[in-house]
Amino acid sequence: MFCVTGIIFYASNFDDYRNLKVYNHGVRYGCARCRKTYLQKKTLGRHLRFDCGQSPSFTCQLCSKKFKHGYILLKHMRLTHEIFIQKLRKRQKPIK
Ligand SMILES: [Zn+2]
Ligand SMILES: [Zn+2]
Repeated sequence: MFCVTGIIFYASNFDDYRNLKVYNHGVRYGCARCRKTYLQKKTLGRHLRFDCGQSPSFTCQLCSKKFKHGYILLKHMRLTHEIFIQKLRKRQKPIK
């Protein structure tokens, strides 16, 4: 019988991930991009979709910290700088 113990299945994107087979035990699932490995396939899926390769694109203007999600930045500004940011209104009256 084919022994899969100790094998790591790597996926570099979500399509790769979907083609991976699910084994009950003895294998790990790894991210080909950052080499993180997970025991469960679905954990790798979450990593590939929401975590890996997501460069922090929201920067705090006050302390230059970077965040992956806008809402985290808003929370950071509220908690760290006590600044409340309202959503921009679509129609803003021009300032005279
Ligand atoms: Zn990764
Ligand atoms: Zn900040």
